[in-house]
Amino acid sequence: PSVFASVVYTPPDVIFELTKKYLTDPAEQKVNLGQGTYRDENGSPWILPCVRAAKEKIRDVNHEYLPILGLTSFRTLAAELVLGRESTALIEKRVASCQALSGTGAIHMAGKILYNALGSQTPVYITNPTWSNHRQVFASIGFLVREYTYYSETAGCLNMETVTQALNEAPPGSIFIFHVSAHNPTGCDPTQEQWKDIATIVQDRGLFPIFDAAYLGMTSGVYDRDAYAIRYFVEELRLEVAVCASFAKNMGLYGERVGLASIITRSPQEATAVESAFEQLMRAEVSNPPAFGARVAAAVLEDGELRAEWARNLTKMSSRVEEMRWALFDGLKKLETPGSWDRIVKQGGMFCLLGLTPEQVVEISIAGLNWGNVQYVAECIDQTIR
Ligand code: PMP
Repeated sequence: PSVFASVVYTPPDVIFELTKKYLTDPAEQKVNLGQGTYRDENGSPWILPCVRAAKEKIRDVNHEYLPILGLTSFRTLAAELVLGRESTALIEKRVASCQALSGTGAIHMAGKILYNALGSQTPVYITNPTWSNHRQVFASIGFLVREYTYYSETAGCLNMETVTQALNEAPPGSIFIFHVSAHNPTGCDPTQEQWKDIATIVQDRGLFPIFDAAYLGMTSGVYDRDAYAIRYFVEELRLEVAVCASFAKNMGLYGERVGLASIITRSPQEATAVESAFEQLMRAEVSNPPAFGARVAAAVLEDGELRAEWARNLTKMSSRVEEMRWALFDGLKKLETPGSWDRIVKQGGMFCLLGLTPEQVVEISIAGLNWGNVQYVAECIDQTIR
């Protein structure tokens, strides 16, 4: 018999199935509302102007290996970006950082460090619903993954009661994954006051927060504003946290796999030790991380003008998505589609949980909408509901 006779077929993630169906659908007026990538007003991928300019700047770079922990300038600039330039954690050298394979790789790296530090018996709490890879990444490391209710179906927003309950009932030392901004897929984030309440429980009960920072700057259009929760936990409460930042969405560097895993510790000694652990892990898993995307991101971050351009690009993406939320909302209102649609404009970020049944399709990517297709989509939703 084959060595692989015992390997069980694993069906692909539904979201990729949906994309496949879209691609093979012969319909002329089809709209892809499934995928988590930004689209411009013509429905095309968008190369951010700041990225275009950065690529020009690094045109002549060589192709040598990067250091094991990644491009040094990228690690420094990205950590400053995530934590804030005035961060006391950075000034006190309490931050261990490692370039990672985008947000997914950053979550994996932080997860591995925590697994080695806390052991396999530590539960990891993920929100229900959440991005499907949260469960997979932590389960594949060997963690026990538990879910807690995050969203109130009836209210169409964050369910602070069940969130608080989960935080209060989890064993001390448990890990909680928080989406820093633009919760995927609900688009519902805690308010600043709610973050403070969450942080107090995390602190009192000795829980460990991992911040999934996949959409910073994409929600409000302002990076620092979207990073509020991280800054509050790290700077105000001086808690130990992990931050997993991705540059896929906010710089449009999806395929380049640019990310940063940072772990904020209590002392410089611990940060040095954790950084050495990062280096060991990286060595064993990837040897040297990919250079191109990190160079592009660093070129944007280190140049005042490109950084200002990036800020404008973030505003452009977040405003276009917000505009489409209102256009879809208005379209459904005009059609008098049965149901309550305020949630479309109450939620933030690229995703929107419409509250349709699974048969009607659950979640749509607002970034796939533009003035050419939004009315059509409203009509399609209207027909599905009736
Ligand atoms: N976290 C969340 C919540 C996401 O939605 C995504 C991307 N879909 C990621 C992390 C990571 O993406 P990437 O690995 O492409 O940076």
